[in-house]
Amino acid sequence: MKNIFTVDTEDWFHANYEGTSFPDTFNARYTVEKNVDSYLGHFDRYGCKATFFVLGSVAEQFPQMVRKIAESGHEIASHGYSHLLVYRQSPDEFREDVRKSRHLLEDISGSRVIGYRAPSWSITRESLWALDILIQEGFEYDSSIFPTRNYLYGIPDAPRFANRPIVNGEEVKILEIPPSTFRAAGLNIPFSGGFYFRALPFFLIDRFTSAVNSVGHPAVFYLHPREIDPDQPRLQLSLRDGFVHYYGVEGCEKKLLRLLEKYKTASIAEEFFSLLQT
Ligand SMILES: [Zn+2]
Repeated sequence: MKNIFTVDTEDWFHANYEGTSFPDTFNARYTVEKNVDSYLGHFDRYGCKATFFVLGSVAEQFPQMVRKIAESGHEIASHGYSHLLVYRQSPDEFREDVRKSRHLLEDISGSRVIGYRAPSWSITRESLWALDILIQEGFEYDSSIFPTRNYLYGIPDAPRFANRPIVNGEEVKILEIPPSTFRAAGLNIPFSGGFYFRALPFFLIDRFTSAVNSVGHPAVFYLHPREIDPDQPRLQLSLRDGFVHYYGVEGCEKKLLRLLEKYKTASIAEEFFSLLQT
């Protein structure tokens, strides 16, 4: 069994800015291509593969980057087109957004796109309707439901491992791949990406990964290009958002390298090939 690595492929500002390109007032530069190059180099060095959930607007701007990811043997999946939170869109807007991103990514990469991850894990109890739309739009798996609770996202009692979600008593015919959590004291503790990965020491990430593997499941990791880039331009954010956005960025790349050295990773399509066929 291999663990799974995923990269939400967007620029340094997307997580806290709902637009497709940075506003003029930012007076800054794009950094996604340079940081994706670093990831590709690291994956290559350790013989690891990953799923890149690419934002459609970023793919449109940097098609050569998408081709390079695909040619390096990684999976291209969709992160939507505009980085709008799912629960802030109408079902029709959501359908338009994922359809546009999927067509774009397939045209650019020349490969089938079967996976989707919502911006900021925004498939929550209020937006579970999105799963049916994903199926109708040709997606075979989703990786947008975080089995935790915080101020922005999460369904705390959602399954912790790959599953077919039950919505209104019925099984939805899409494979859901949640990010990994560690179960302790009746709570799911996130550790495998973003702020949690940056904040936790490596030995804990290592221990929690082993715990997930010991019950027969691959760990699902996730990071963004900007999270290994201490030189990225900075957004003006509230104290809380700034802390979550930037804490631990300095040490993140080093931690990533330790992880890749110890655990060989695969893409979602590769690791869950047999489940996706059923
Ligand atoms: Zn994102």
